[in-house]
Amino acid sequence: MTWEDEFKKNITTVEDLAEFVDISRAEKTRIQRIIDRHPMSVTRYYASLIDWNDPEDPLKKMTIPSEGELDIAGIYDQSGEQQSTKLPGLQHKYTRTVLLLTTNMCTTYCRYCFRKRLVGRPTDETIHRLGDAVIYISAHPEVNNVLLSGGDPLCLPTRTLRRFLEKLSEIDHLDFIRIGTKVPVTMPQRITEDGELYELLKETSVRKKRLYVSTQFNHPNEITPAARRSINRLHRAGIVTNNQTVLLRGVNDNPETMSKLQRELTGMGIVPYYVFQCRPVKRVKKLFQIPLARGFEILEKSRSLLDGYSKRYRYVMSHRDGKIAVAGVDKEYFYFRFHQARNPKNDGKFFKMKFDPDAAWLDDLRPA
Ligand code: SF4
Repeated sequence: MTWEDEFKKNITTVEDLAEFVDISRAEKTRIQRIIDRHPMSVTRYYASLIDWNDPEDPLKKMTIPSEGELDIAGIYDQSGEQQSTKLPGLQHKYTRTVLLLTTNMCTTYCRYCFRKRLVGRPTDETIHRLGDAVIYISAHPEVNNVLLSGGDPLCLPTRTLRRFLEKLSEIDHLDFIRIGTKVPVTMPQRITEDGELYELLKETSVRKKRLYVSTQFNHPNEITPAARRSINRLHRAGIVTNNQTVLLRGVNDNPETMSKLQRELTGMGIVPYYVFQCRPVKRVKKLFQIPLARGFEILEKSRSLLDGYSKRYRYVMSHRDGKIAVAGVDKEYFYFRFHQARNPKNDGKFFKMKFDPDAAWLDDLRPA
């Protein structure tokens, strides 16, 4: 069976869900209300990793709609993506990186998604014409890398992905191309069983432009033999892998889970890159966000359980003003550093804000 056939069997309806759990009529109605707004889609592979009898199962929390999503505190575009958009589907926020929204589809929809406004929904935010994007990037020699994002670029047919990689590889001033994908976590067979994709990735990364893949493992239960095989195959194709974890309430918000995750990823040859503070997005904030002070404490304790390689991650907020690393906390202040800044003058800048134990985002804090 091809990955496309597998994809068609995804769990997308309340009736599909009822194959796994007992759902009352009232619950069905509530879940339907949520799905009507933000669709559900879960691969059969990922569903097989869930313990359906455990109400606290972390993988279930990440992918199965729950009533908490009816809380609409927050805003959809927390990172100022509209502000960074130069052409449909092309964002240029940081000097050296251009981001392309290649699709609005993912193999599995995460309930905490920061692009909830567009994934699986009608949108005009994805790329319209690749040629226009290539002209834009070619005219900006300061750009040295392009990030293919979405949605999930590995949801695209291989022939479409080929067009992206071939066109971008022709731009001399690009040093490398990045692909942000959750496919090794949600549908590893897309990587292990599609020979055409493997050849495309290998040909690009070894002969044309180095490819970097950013994975998104959030919990050790996602690290399976199949996921390991998919990562090994990416490495064999000459790809460098980094991981970006989202810090999520009730999923990975404890030092033991977080340190186990980062240690196992490092053992697989994946570099721990970022741990993201969950963004205050509508239908996500109340359900998944934890306070910054708590997040800092969890990640520091997690570091104390790890070797140097496994604690290479940075704890950051992807804020509209830039990627802001949480550098320290004491009884009076939070200390932050711009890891990447929308305004290049702020790059590397340190600043502090008054301590607030409940604050969960920069905008919740008062200046020092
Ligand atoms: S894979 Fe990424 S873009 Fe897709 S739903 Fe999950 S978080 Fe959102």
